[in-house]
Amino acid sequence: MESLVEKLEAYKAEIKQYAAAKADEVEAFRIKYLGSKGLVKELMAEMKNVAAENKRSFGQLLNDFKVFTESRYEELKSAAGNGQEKADTGMDYTLPGDPLPQGSRHPISLVRNQMISIFQRLGFAVAEGPEIEDDWHNFTALNLPENHPARDMQDTFYISQNPDWLLRTHTSSVQVREMEKGNLPIRIICPGRVYRNETISARAHCFFHQVEGLYIAEQVSFADLKQTLYFFVKEMFGSSVKVRFRPSYFPFTEPSAEMDISCLICGGKGCSVCKHTGWVEILGCGMVHPNLLENCGIDPNKYTGFAFGMGIERITMLKYQIKDLRLFSENDLRFLQQFTGAV
Ligand SMILES: [Zn+2]
Repeated sequence: MESLVEKLEAYKAEIKQYAAAKADEVEAFRIKYLGSKGLVKELMAEMKNVAAENKRSFGQLLNDFKVFTESRYEELKSAAGNGQEKADTGMDYTLPGDPLPQGSRHPISLVRNQMISIFQRLGFAVAEGPEIEDDWHNFTALNLPENHPARDMQDTFYISQNPDWLLRTHTSSVQVREMEKGNLPIRIICPGRVYRNETISARAHCFFHQVEGLYIAEQVSFADLKQTLYFFVKEMFGSSVKVRFRPSYFPFTEPSAEMDISCLICGGKGCSVCKHTGWVEILGCGMVHPNLLENCGIDPNKYTGFAFGMGIERITMLKYQIKDLRLFSENDLRFLQQFTGAV
């Protein structure tokens, strides 16, 4: 019995000093002491040779020794595991992480959202429609029948599969779709992407974005149109901005007008942006042509309405003093990052 105690103490000292830096050394430890032919099993087997009166204390000692060996094994395993991980990945987990770059809203989205919010406060709902349109909704219903010379101003891309299909040149097609539904009165704005067959330059692109508006009810007048647009301009550009209307021509409105605002760069004194006139054109508008109402099944003797349309790019360029329209679609982070934090 005493010799057993001495033997176990010697093994314990050996186990304590056992060094295992790598996983295979830890495994060697397990095989040597805890394996099926290991030391612990070997000592257990000696139980049968022990005298009956010593069995209890012998068993106790062996059990303690087994627990001690197992805990040392766990210790070696976890120490070697940590070391192994570091060696494998070559990473230093104490270094700070890579920062996630902060995104920003595209300036077109910023201005579109602001425009929608201004018109929503006046009770306008947002209406949307398809970007691939048919001739009727994009041209004919809008008083632009085939061979009408005004179609030349809106040359677009046609779908070869079907000559009646085209990429819409304005969101007026959405207005036609709303008018055809016949739920009067109508008070909508139509934001969306439109296409034109234009040479790409600082001032023109083959696609751009519009917000068009339409209000049809009984006794709507040109005065309502002016008040609506005055409100929009003051909200968008500030109360010091001046507004003027010039007579114009559009096939879908009569009378028609273009609206200018006083130049935001020079305050009206004259500069290169306003071509030294002090005024910048921002939108076209007018009273909805009676032919349009008839085309969409609305009685022009009972209902009148106004419509307006503007390019979001143009408004954005004026608001943020951007000189080249191509910047909006080039995905240049040096440009886009200037809008970080803007809401
Ligand atoms: Zn100017």
